[in-house]
Amino acid sequence: MKLRASNIAKLKDQSFDVLIVGGGINGSVAAAALAARGVSVALIDKGDFAGFTSQQSSNLAWGGIKYMETWEYPLVRALCMSRNRLIRSYPSTVKEIRFFTSVQKGFRWHPWILWAGTWLYWLIGNGFTRVPFLRPVGAIQREEPVVRTDALSGGFEYSDSYLHDNDARFVFNFIRSALSRGCIAANYVAAEGSRREGTEWVTQLRDVRGGESFPVRSKVLVNAAGPFVDEVNARNGISTRHRHVFSKGIHLIVPRITDSKRVLTFFADDGRLFFAIPMGNRTCIGTTDNRVDTPYATVTEADRRFVLDNINKRLNLPKPLTEVDVISERCGVRPLVVEGAAGEKTDFLQLSRKHAVEVDAASQQISIFGGKLTDCINVGEEICDEVQRLGVTIPEPDFTWYGEAPDSVRDEFLHQARLMNLDAYTAPESSEPLSQRLWRRYGAQAIGLLENIREDSREAEVLIKGTEYIRCELRQAARREMVVTLDDFLRRRSKIALVERRETIRQSPGLMDACRILFGDEAQARHDEYFGTSG
Ligand SMILES: Cc1cc2nc3c(=O)[nH]c(=O)nc-3n(C[C@H](O)[C@H](O)[C@H](O)COP(=O)(O)OP(=O)(O)OC[C@H]3O[C@@H](n4cnc5c(N)ncnc54)[C@H](O)[C@@H]3O)c2cc1C
Repeated sequence: MKLRASNIAKLKDQSFDVLIVGGGINGSVAAAALAARGVSVALIDKGDFAGFTSQQSSNLAWGGIKYMETWEYPLVRALCMSRNRLIRSYPSTVKEIRFFTSVQKGFRWHPWILWAGTWLYWLIGNGFTRVPFLRPVGAIQREEPVVRTDALSGGFEYSDSYLHDNDARFVFNFIRSALSRGCIAANYVAAEGSRREGTEWVTQLRDVRGGESFPVRSKVLVNAAGPFVDEVNARNGISTRHRHVFSKGIHLIVPRITDSKRVLTFFADDGRLFFAIPMGNRTCIGTTDNRVDTPYATVTEADRRFVLDNINKRLNLPKPLTEVDVISERCGVRPLVVEGAAGEKTDFLQLSRKHAVEVDAASQQISIFGGKLTDCINVGEEICDEVQRLGVTIPEPDFTWYGEAPDSVRDEFLHQARLMNLDAYTAPESSEPLSQRLWRRYGAQAIGLLENIREDSREAEVLIKGTEYIRCELRQAARREMVVTLDDFLRRRSKIALVERRETIRQSPGLMDACRILFGDEAQARHDEYFGTSG
């Protein structure tokens, strides 16, 4: 909590070149890019970082193969290039994965045509990934016996990529990188309205946890409020050509349905692509795509039925999946950008998933509409360019702000890890060696964790039974990751709340120990707040 309190004090004290409202993927990359290039930047979010849409995605960094059907080739090309850049820049985090797709008899396209489409997709992506394969019914039967083949006409396999940890952790690492480079960021601080005063913006902020309100000054205001962009602009008197419409999507997380590391891909009853995505010893199934009017969406009985019915129809499971098998649920709205009245006229599912950056030069304000996690590096670059065009000096315009630490740092970490036999501490539940996991999550900071374990081997103990997070990670989270509520840690800094049932977490013997490390004297209060047992 110290980091947050000291950042809130700095927000009151200083005036900034840029204030960013919203700490989802769009705000986080903007902050990471600007801070790394030497701009004085502040970022606030009314909830936790990545606490809204950016924690509800399918965790894919993908070229958008399905947009080929709507002839959006420039978008597919741009997304493929973004995906390739992410795989190159984050080799331990963004990983190529195979999509094993089966096609029902009578589907609108024959598997051979779809297979030809995957070759075109592969070429559009500069042949960066492994080549596609055709998969006749016999091969599907042999390679993925869990897939029902009685009603199939065939299938194919191609590559895209996925975020190994989860979307929220990916976003937080941009926030962390921005903080390390001088950004003043705070979660649970809401922007309640901005007005121009001379050549500056004055934004009224409220500490949602503490209740205090105070103004912050900036030359430029960046609205990265995701599904709330229009609401924030309306409050600030900014009118824009673009606006958002919302599409709701849900995922269900269930016990692992196949040992294969591939994404099982189907066409659901509504004709849309539908995935069973590996998530360690769990599988994440989804998603849906339904127009809604508000950003606040919840999983309905009908959503749950749609996902379960579709997966049960397509798999040979010993027992069909039911609500009882659902470990956790994800639900969010995609903020889709439309220009003018376009959203009313166009077929909803045909709306483009691209992003738009709109600048109001007269009032020094930038709004970021739409977009995808996949496109995040481009968003960071574009915001730097626009901020510079608005007259803010960028001291180090050529600095590369994204990507993992250099290979030499990684090799030194892995060398030290080998010398101390770190992987012997790997938890039995873990799907990978401890050294790999620590490097992916913490990069260069992981070297400090080795130091902690060398000093006291109990620092390598798994604290919350059944998970893989060790004591020194919790200490690091308490110091560097601005964990305010237990949900921040369980759902976003880690993925414990996605892969374990709430009751299992509650019963875990190490949970109170973890709360003490994260919250000190407030441990019991934060525990009770999470489980709804306070007061
Ligand atoms: C079901 C689903 C599946 C998806 N799958 C993928 C995928 O596989 N791959 C992919 O690339 N993309 C995917 N996406 C799209 C992607 O998740 C979103 O485009 C992206 O997360 C949007 O990020 P954002 O930063 O614009 O919004 P958000 O993540 O919503 O961030 C906006 C933030 O602004 C904050 N905020 C709002 N108002 C205020 C205020 N007044 N003061 C302070 N803070 C404020 C909010 O609290 C929020 O945290 C998916 C989306 C959904 C819903």
